[in-house]
Amino acid sequence: MGKASGPYLYDLDGNEYIDYLLSYVALMLGHGHPEVIHAIQAQMKGSGTFLFGTPHQLELEMGKKIMELYPSIEMIRYTNSGTEATLLALRMAYAYIGKYKIAKFEGHYHGGYDQVLLSVNPSLAEAGPVHEPAAVIESKGVDPYHQEHTIILPFNDLEAVSDILIKRKDEIAAVMMEPVQGGFIPAEQSFMDGLRKITEELGILLIFDEVKTGFRLGLGGAQSVYNIKPDITKLGKVVGGGFPVGILGGKKERLMVSAPSASSDVFDSSQSKNSSAKDVLFHSGTYNGHPTILAAGLATIQVLEQKMEHVLSTTTQLKNGIKKLFEERGIGMHTIGLGAIFNVVITEQERIRNYRDFQQLNFPMRKELDFSLLTQGIYTKPMNRYSMSTVHGEKEIHRTLEAYEYVLSKII
Ligand code: PMP
Repeated sequence: MGKASGPYLYDLDGNEYIDYLLSYVALMLGHGHPEVIHAIQAQMKGSGTFLFGTPHQLELEMGKKIMELYPSIEMIRYTNSGTEATLLALRMAYAYIGKYKIAKFEGHYHGGYDQVLLSVNPSLAEAGPVHEPAAVIESKGVDPYHQEHTIILPFNDLEAVSDILIKRKDEIAAVMMEPVQGGFIPAEQSFMDGLRKITEELGILLIFDEVKTGFRLGLGGAQSVYNIKPDITKLGKVVGGGFPVGILGGKKERLMVSAPSASSDVFDSSQSKNSSAKDVLFHSGTYNGHPTILAAGLATIQVLEQKMEHVLSTTTQLKNGIKKLFEERGIGMHTIGLGAIFNVVITEQERIRNYRDFQQLNFPMRKELDFSLLTQGIYTKPMNRYSMSTVHGEKEIHRTLEAYEYVLSKII
């Protein structure tokens, strides 16, 4: 691609595409939104710098906004990406609980860190039993040590999850999850309620990775939709307004262990150091809480506060339109997802509840559909989700449904 504007991408030959990938859900105001451009320029010109290297006003403003929208969050720390928020969440869980293993769900992604780069998209040959999945390494170079320290859970299967957690409660510090798997397979409410209850009973922390669901299921993310208070929340993507960011939030008492006032840390070389570095939870980063990025994020949230209803209603319109076109042709499919993300899953199955169900989809037809739609100016990464923005409107939906109709008539 060479250029982008609002809901459109333009390739180097000048072809126009309606963008439904939106940088893997990040761009919820579309490309180059004027309010975000204005906020970035104003921040740079107004402050005269790109970076303070000290606390600053925008950190506070964003913190207050996050706490207003996410009641489970009493304090936050900034990172540069969702992956970094995962690193911090793991360290925090280990520090707080004093155990050094994590449980994650099969099919859930938490960034490119070794300990969670397991069983994200395993082959069924390696994935192990449905009710007690194996930990499958997803990249060259991941130390097999992590297979021993990451326990894989089956999503939306409370009985099996409870059995595993009870059996291994003395090893597990936290359960980390995407409340909506891959951004489009929702947890069932009874599953979520049960998981919250059992983790509390067993003294295991519950970590919501809301890097995709934050702001997209509603301004308050999945936790507001499910009415669940996780112990730790991770945010990213939308909250950076198109720039790299991660946020970790949770209870004040847990986050204070990382506060500069908590104790001396690894950088404190004063002679009078009278506490051990083991008393602090180290977290630091040159660019954490970057002012320009927080300005972009705050501007994004401000626009979303005005336009969320519009995004949710255009999402419903598009989902219904696509569903109808498949129904007219007698092909089984669902547009699954909550809020402003969904996926087109072609299947005769009634429900898609987890990774194993997902493996049964008609991938060849979906792939053909995606590549044919590309030739008609509809862009999503083949097999990926659809994300919506404030600038996708009637015109784009109409064009998309026309393209779908044309393509379906060719491939079926
Ligand atoms: N968690 C989830 C749920 C994600 O979707 C992603 C990114 N796709 C990450 C973590 C990692 O975020 P980043 O790419 O910013 O490191």
